[in-house]
Amino acid sequence: MKPETITSLLRPNILHLTPYSSARSEFDGAEGIFLDANENPYNTDYNRYPDPLQRKLKEKLAQTKGVQPSNIFLGNGSDEAIDIALRSFCNPHADNIVTITPTYGMYKVLAQINDVELREVPLNADFSLNTQAVLQAVDAHTKMIILCSPNNPTGNDLEWSSMLHLLNNFSGIIAIDEAYIDFAQGASRLQYLPQYPRLIVWQTFSKAWAMAGLRLGIAFAHEELIAVFNKVKYPYNINAYTQQKALEMLQQQPTMLQQVNTILQERQRLQKEFAQLKYVKTVYPTSANFILIQVEDANRLYDYLLAQHIIVRNRTKVQLCGNCVRITVGTAHENDALLQAMHLFA
Ligand SMILES: *Cc1c(COP(=O)(O)O)cnc(C)c1O
Repeated sequence: MKPETITSLLRPNILHLTPYSSARSEFDGAEGIFLDANENPYNTDYNRYPDPLQRKLKEKLAQTKGVQPSNIFLGNGSDEAIDIALRSFCNPHADNIVTITPTYGMYKVLAQINDVELREVPLNADFSLNTQAVLQAVDAHTKMIILCSPNNPTGNDLEWSSMLHLLNNFSGIIAIDEAYIDFAQGASRLQYLPQYPRLIVWQTFSKAWAMAGLRLGIAFAHEELIAVFNKVKYPYNINAYTQQKALEMLQQQPTMLQQVNTILQERQRLQKEFAQLKYVKTVYPTSANFILIQVEDANRLYDYLLAQHIIVRNRTKVQLCGNCVRITVGTAHENDALLQAMHLFA
């Protein structure tokens, strides 16, 4: 297999795109009298356009993650980071992408919106990656393989050896969605970026970083790829408040780590308690801040909990997840309420 270059993988229209040049990208000095962007000059904290390239935030994030700022793209949620990869590489109605099933539902929706065929390869019964089947699903029009590790909704990590096998035997882009990486034992695959220019790692501020409401997702990749994403994105895709708030949160990383620690302890407590319940058939191992369990009747348990105002995710209709519910780890108090209700369920 001959690895493709990033240029050869791109859609021709994206390769040749001249991006919009905003006022704030043509002049980015911090000081001066700004009469270039038709803003209202009276201060409201938000009367000025935000930094289109989020430089302060990326600098801090780069330090935190041990990468260069030029390896970071920030999107309006991971959704934008995923969508921009599809839009940059996949010619509608011609190219395809390969992913696993079950996995995060947005890949399918974004593929459909972009008119890109999505090929879903079932995981093995133990939720591990079937690399042979993934490679069999690949053809000359496959631009990208999307993997999710820890995977949603199954909770398990995919083996790095399997991902490596794909990187070495597939010539296109491999994207790994690490939305839950802060809850996992294993390390992020970020460290492999310098070795694999066709690797994209997605992370998010929505889970461990406690900023789901702000909508901030991350793509880490080779700087050539990041430069393409910056060209394709809306000029001011991350608003000023989000940039400022995320920077503050990064400066308080110990708080996040403490919360993650507590969540992991609570996760262990829930797993033990779930295993005691007669109607719980399987408590699946998890590397995320949620637990997938298989029960005798998922619909009944879901409806019962809902009646007690406890909302979990019923995954019974998902492939390989018959009679499964996915339960997010809450605060100790919330988990107490959940356990009390679950003990009373018969
Ligand atoms: C929650 C989640 C995300 C986060 O999406 P955002 O748009 O950043 O909120 C991404 N990927 C997976 C697999 C998720 O479960």
